[in-house]
Parts: sequence; structure tokens; C-alpha cells
Amino acid sequence: MAGHEEDLAKAARWLTTARKAIGLTGAGISTESGIPDFRSAGGLWSRYNPAEYATLGAFMRDPEKVWRMLAELEEVLQAQPNPGHTALAELEQAGLLAGIVTQNVDGLHQAGGSRNVIEFHGSGRTLSCLTCGAVYPNSEIDRRQRPPRCRGEFRGAPCEAILKPDVVFFDEQIPPQALLDTERLVRDADLILVVGTSCEVWPAAGIPHQVKQQGGRIVEVNLEPAQELPSDLVFADKSATVLPALAERVRALRQ
Ligand code: ZN
Repeated sequence: MAGHEEDLAKAARWLTTARKAIGLTGAGISTESGIPDFRSAGGLWSRYNPAEYATLGAFMRDPEKVWRMLAELEEVLQAQPNPGHTALAELEQAGLLAGIVTQNVDGLHQAGGSRNVIEFHGSGRTLSCLTCGAVYPNSEIDRRQRPPRCRGEFRGAPCEAILKPDVVFFDEQIPPQALLDTERLVRDADLILVVGTSCEVWPAAGIPHQVKQQGGRIVEVNLEPAQELPSDLVFADKSATVLPALAERVRALRQ
């Protein structure tokens, strides 16, 4: 981690002395697991217009069409956590990170060992039936059937409605429980690690600003630093490199 020595030492010191540190993550932490940023050039949204493919309205009108986009999203779920994910999990296990708010739907924080993960934009790891309310883990979905259909019953007959992944579409609200959990997590936080997000999508983008208003610090790990963020420290580098180095510093400090 040449060139970051002083900043790493500073961030490690801040982390170990913070009253309550939290994380906010976005697409950038998952790119090193091979998941391209949906918003980037060549990303999912450049090939599928979100208004046409990623709204609840579109799903209600033509779920089979929306599933052409979702089939690509499914590949995302084959990805594995990278050292950035596991470093955040290590910080949590050490009692130094109270939780993470993520805008990702890939479930890689949990796969990497993090426990307190608030999925602001839902999760692709479960699917729901909008007709009868049944919920299925992704692992229980029969891949031979596309799009997947509900195996439950509705009004005495097989339901068979096309299932929807529990991701938050563009015309859907942030899940109320996620908002409540976030409010609780962000309250009193005096340090936030902002990782792999340009903080342009609200309301998630407001979280670092709230920490700042509470007198806290912002430590940013972004290959391309966010424009609007009043960060106290910026690592313009890969999170899969910076976060393990930071976790290592923290380990050394606590020995
Ligand atoms: Zn159903």
C-alpha cells in the first residue's frame, strides 16, 4: 500500500477511537468481485433502459420482458466476496464497525461475514410472489424454469405467478424497515467509511452528510472520489486493496 502509509495510520487511529463507526457501500466495492457497475458505460442500465425494465410498473405489465434484464442480474449472484468485503467483516467482528448500509443487491457483505447489513435497495438473494406473498431464497429457484414461477397456492388453485426478486425497482420506495434500521445505525455515528459509491443517489447519499453534521468524520475509499462529499480523508484507490491494509493497521494498533 505504498503512498498511503500516513493516511492508513490516521484512518486506523480514527477507527479505533471512534465512538461509533459505520459503513456505506455501493457498486465500487463489488466491481472487484467481477460485478460491473450497473450505472457505468456498458453496464446494465446502458443496455436496458431502467424506465422500461426496472420499474414495478414494467414488471406488472410484462414480467417476461423484465426477466430478460433480471436474467443478467442473476449472474451477479454467482459472484464471490473480495478482500474488501472480508476486511469490513473483520472490523465488525473486532467491534469497530457497528454496521453497513449498502446500496448493492448482491449479498456479498453477508457472504463475506458481515452481520449487521442494511440493504437499502433490497436484495437479489430472495424472490417474492406479488400475488400470494410467498418468499423464496434464490437457492430454491428452479433454474430450468424461466422466468421462475410461484409454487404456492392462491384461492385454492396453484398460484404460478411470475416471481420478482426483492430488489428495489426505480419506482419503488426504500423498504421502510431499511430506513428505520438506517436511522438507528446512523444516529450517534461519528465516523463513516464511504466505499465504492459516488453518493449521487438519494436518500443514501445523505447518510455521510448526516454523520458530518453530527460532528463525525468521513473516510472515503473511492477509485474516483465523490464530488459532493466533504471527506476528511480520501483513498483514491481500490477498496479490495485499501480496506485489507486498513484492517491490518487496526490489528497492529490493538496488539
Ligand atoms: Zn404465489
